[in-house]
Amino acid sequence: MSSGSVQTLPLQLFLREDFPQLLQTLKQLGYQTLGPVLSQGAIQWKAITTPEDFPIDWKDQQEPGSYRLEPDPSPRYFNIVHGPESLKPLTFAPRETLLVLDHQNNTFSAKDIQPDTTPTAILGVRACDLAGLGIQDQIFLHGTYPDPYYQQRRENLFLIAVNCTRAHATCFCASMETGPKAQQGFDLSLTEADEDFLIEAGSVKGLKVLDQLTSSIASEERIKEDEERIGACAASQTRSLPKANLPAALYEAHDHPRWDHVAARCLSCTNCTMVCPTCFCHGVEETPSLDFQQSEHTRVWDSCFTPDHGYIHGKNFRPTTKDRYRMWLTHKLAAWIDQFGTSGCVGCGRCIAWCPVGIDLTEEVQALSQPPL
Ligand code: SF4
Ligand code: SF4
Repeated sequence: MSSGSVQTLPLQLFLREDFPQLLQTLKQLGYQTLGPVLSQGAIQWKAITTPEDFPIDWKDQQEPGSYRLEPDPSPRYFNIVHGPESLKPLTFAPRETLLVLDHQNNTFSAKDIQPDTTPTAILGVRACDLAGLGIQDQIFLHGTYPDPYYQQRRENLFLIAVNCTRAHATCFCASMETGPKAQQGFDLSLTEADEDFLIEAGSVKGLKVLDQLTSSIASEERIKEDEERIGACAASQTRSLPKANLPAALYEAHDHPRWDHVAARCLSCTNCTMVCPTCFCHGVEETPSLDFQQSEHTRVWDSCFTPDHGYIHGKNFRPTTKDRYRMWLTHKLAAWIDQFGTSGCVGCGRCIAWCPVGIDLTEEVQALSQPPL
């Protein structure tokens, strides 16, 4: 986990030709390294061992209901903004056996299954994903019962952020004040240009790695150039989610006819909740062995869009897609504020891009904020 106060150091310039040093240093310090890797037509966090593992020469295009990778003659390692995965699957596993119950000699015993806690450095974390991780920390670490599985994985992460200089049509981090520049929660942050990077340490662990790299103090001119590129990225975002009228606008819209409109398009497919960096619903499954001598107790991601999610004591209290979409949006953008003191949305835009019918929550909030026609 990013921790420890860091003395303010001048921003450093780190040359592209020296980038392999970063991978080598992380390896020497015992980290496995994950980064953005082309996989199944998208980008996933996978092992990176050499600079060639990065998706150089590719870029992503994201629009409502659309995610495309296309060739791009750029030398940059981090030209692709993000894939469907946030940091969520790396700390809160999509499917995880927690316990194995054993029935032997008329007694039961329970063996807990420990998560893999290999120290892991992740290269290419975006500001919105750091914000999403901060929200998940609040849920899994800072409640009455911290989650030991999440905690062990979280403590072993080394996070290398990359500031965004390119936004998609689906991004709205600027209006959520979560990006495009990583402000906190990282161990190292990079701003990439064609020939080099600006690099900054955000933790004592990050400083230890930075100390091993060949870098020099960045010029004022170069720092200003990067600030302008990040500022232009923020200014290029066409979507926004004005905070001012939330949560009231959604509470007041409970009976708005717009819910019928969106429900007529929504497939209740759960994609939006699976890709969201902050959604945390889960269920548990018991899987007995054929001889009933053992049973695996497994935690699995769930979604408020599944029929079972609203089923309790013989009745489903959210039987329709309209009920489910209203529940999701109202919790995410309104009740979350009352529950956790912050929005449940960080403006990553994934739910817009990965919704098969291109439902856009910013458009829905705007419509729900207007009086019914
Ligand atoms: S609600 Fe959508 S835009 Fe907001 S954090 Fe979740 S996936 Fe990203
Ligand atoms: S809003 Fe889109 S992604 Fe979410 S459940 Fe409905 S159809 Fe699926």
